Amino acid sequence: MCVLITGASRGIGAACARGFAKAGYDVAVNYNKSAEKAEALVQELRSCGVRALAVQADVSDSAQVRAMVERVKREIGEIEVLVNNAGISMFGLLTDMTDEDWKRMTDTNLSSVFYCCRAVLPAMIRAHHGVIVNIASMWGEVGASCEAAYSASKAGVIGLTKALAKEVGPSGVRVNAVSPGVVMTDMMASFSEADVAALKDETPLETLGSPEDIAGAVLFLASNKARFITGQILSVNGGMVI
Ligand code: NAP
Repeated sequence: MCVLITGASRGIGAACARGFAKAGYDVAVNYNKSAEKAEALVQELRSCGVRALAVQADVSDSAQVRAMVERVKREIGEIEVLVNNAGISMFGLLTDMTDEDWKRMTDTNLSSVFYCCRAVLPAMIRAHHGVIVNIASMWGEVGASCEAAYSASKAGVIGLTKALAKEVGPSGVRVNAVSPGVVMTDMMASFSEADVAALKDETPLETLGSPEDIAGAVLFLASNKARFITGQILSVNGGMVI
């Protein structure tokens, strides 16, 4: 079995890569800028006895996505599981955002999901077998002040997940999303200790998420235990959004 994980050089994507390798999957680790981290992760995954490949591509670019999928097929095999995880965040007032900010956000967080799904689906449909797991966000469910573009991009991921699940379900392909709450990764680096403490206070389980918490949900949705689940948005957020 072969999984392609976008944005797997760090954070949630890297935790997913480790989880899939432990479960016996061959893993394609997509990265954009963090080449060293991706290569080190691939070495680590190989020690689990699976095939692993680091593949550079900016997933906001459709031509690079096409080339990435072709390379993975050539070097590891047909992609049976796609995890659309790559993403960026941006904070600030909507009125301060430039056209370029908006475009970078929507291209990276939403268009990338479209490009990757479009590239892997023909083979999945031919095989009548395949799973896509998209990484959304609780802000895509309820919206966050000063993160309007991010929230819009993730709401788009949720809409795409539901619609695509209906479209390709009859072809044997399942499409779901995991919607994380606050997870301690580089994405949270700009938050002060006080901000992090406040977020913890707002969370019913009084803890923030780890990348492994999200990876666990992704692995479940990819597995046969979820064979009757499609079009769903699995919130993994400590109860912050219910
Ligand atoms: P992170 O630690 O900042 O890692 C982001 C990953 O995305 C990196 O591997 C990065 O690769 C990759 N990436 C960014 N732009 C890319 C591009 N254009 N092409 C290919 N890869 C690209 O973030 P994270 O916290 O793990 O977030 C992963 C996903 O979870 C994102 O979609 C994020 O929106 C979502 N999420 C996170 C949280 C949270 O609290 N952390 C909450 C909800 C949802 P390089 O370093 O190689 O460039």
